[in-house]
Amino acid sequence: MAALPVAGVAMKLSSLNQFAGELGNTERMPALFLGHGSPMNAIEENEFVSGFRKTGQEMPTPTAVLCISAHWETRGTFVTAMDHPRTIHDFGGFPRALFEVQYPAPGNPELAKEVQGMVSKTQVGLDHNWGLDHGAWSVIKHLYPKADVPVIQMSLDYSQPPQYHYELARELAALRRKGVLIVGSGNMVHNLRLVAWDRLNEVDYAFDWATEASDKMKTAIRSGDHQALVDFKSQGRSFDLAIPTPEHFLPLLYILALQEKDEAASFFNDKAVAGALTMTSVKVDKA
Ligand code: ZN
Repeated sequence: MAALPVAGVAMKLSSLNQFAGELGNTERMPALFLGHGSPMNAIEENEFVSGFRKTGQEMPTPTAVLCISAHWETRGTFVTAMDHPRTIHDFGGFPRALFEVQYPAPGNPELAKEVQGMVSKTQVGLDHNWGLDHGAWSVIKHLYPKADVPVIQMSLDYSQPPQYHYELARELAALRRKGVLIVGSGNMVHNLRLVAWDRLNEVDYAFDWATEASDKMKTAIRSGDHQALVDFKSQGRSFDLAIPTPEHFLPLLYILALQEKDEAASFFNDKAVAGALTMTSVKVDKA
């Protein structure tokens, strides 16, 4: 893929709107769903980290990242609008080294306001308290290790049904032509209650139901049957076990909703870990 016109241009954060207005649209950015898995992926070297890194290197450098993370659920929809989002260590029981990680990517208040203005489905609030949770920074740090790409987050409204999230995401489509990389961060199969904690680091270890759900999900994605995934609550036992709560699955719906007619969804990091998690990640890009 050819580089975006904006790649490599040092751009003032405050000039995003102006920039887009002056130069018009850019080439469409891909959209990514990233299976984030254990927070330890933030500091470990493993095949998943390599996969994130490679994916980041293969894409044009975005003007900003908009991340929908499983770990920010609110009533109503918010976008982070501070200049300097803090690194949130929203987990417990991990080594000190993980709590010491800082990911000082700047925010982008102008982009937050732009998102607020372009969404008609709901009133989007500007948030000044959140920051970057580990669903965002533990993976985005591998895409952009220099923390030089601005990042904003959009929250998941826990009071809304899956169809709502899919439709809301469609309203974000224009951002991709302004050089914004939209990232959904969760896990397609994610059942912490059934995780084999004694086999936590075991790659390719999946319970039968996890394999079944993962295969069905990938078949639906490949065939463009997004409605089957929006209707995940009526897909039977394997889906019920794979998606006991919706927050790690919903970010996938945001990314699929952005897929356009001439685009395909491809998979990377497509492996199970610890029986009840899949790291499967999805890139939506020109076919
Ligand atoms: Zn998570």
